[in-house]
Amino acid sequence: MNPIRKDIFAVSLLLLYSVLARSQSHYTGPVIDLHVHVAVLPGERNNLGAPDSITDLLPMLRPNKIARAGIITIAHAGQLAETRRRNDSVLRLCRLYPQLIPICSVHPADSTAAWSEMERLKEQGVSILKLHPSAQHFDVGSPEVAALAERAGALHMALLFDSYKPEDAAELGKLMMLAVNHPDTKFIIAHAGFIHFAELITINVWKKYPWYRNNIFMDISAIAPMMGNSPYRRQLMWVMRSVGISQFLYGTDFPIFTFKESIAAVHRMGFTRAEEKKIFHDNAGRLIASLTGAAK
Ligand SMILES: [Zn+2]
Repeated sequence: MNPIRKDIFAVSLLLLYSVLARSQSHYTGPVIDLHVHVAVLPGERNNLGAPDSITDLLPMLRPNKIARAGIITIAHAGQLAETRRRNDSVLRLCRLYPQLIPICSVHPADSTAAWSEMERLKEQGVSILKLHPSAQHFDVGSPEVAALAERAGALHMALLFDSYKPEDAAELGKLMMLAVNHPDTKFIIAHAGFIHFAELITINVWKKYPWYRNNIFMDISAIAPMMGNSPYRRQLMWVMRSVGISQFLYGTDFPIFTFKESIAAVHRMGFTRAEEKKIFHDNAGRLIASLTGAAK
């Protein structure tokens, strides 16, 4: 072999090796995303101007290996008929497209009417409710929220909570205490507390006590694409590994982030393939199974 051909051969081998090494270092199997906002009612528009109808969403799922997508609605206080209409629309979409998981909503201020709606939703197979203190204008520390959290536990429903309100710096702490005070209820803290993520380390202290039931999960929607490639990356990874990768779920917060960019953001953070498999799929699968009783 002449020296030039030899060099080309060596370079090609190196390229092939690096392509193989890259593809093997990341989890590329099915993904479960429990944080997808869609237009729930016909003609509804989000204020981002981003396409988010069900016909926009569905063709994006398979190319991004999204095997299951939890579609979210958010309820507003005192609008019970509208809340039911939106929840029913989510349920209808999920019946039409079985890859979708219903994530319905109630408002804590609707108290007993909200509880009745929760019971109705549970009968229809809903296991996750979305609550958004900022968009729904409530305080996580209020007694109505505690009553709703207790009710959710009795119904085996998890609460997916937005965890960042710029004007309430104590919100993540309030959410974590809500979980401690309602050990039979599972909580998903969306965005993992965002810029307050280091507070999650408190969970490690609670884990030493027999009363802590490991009922707090976090999704890394928004935080992964916004902070996963920043000077906070190592701290965020350290917190996640320290609290336990088994408690963390992938999420997009679609349409704010695309599936492609949020998946790439998690890949870029530097988790092992085994950790990525848990984050992208296994942890959410385990959580859903524990809520629906489908598996242990
Ligand atoms: Zn969201």
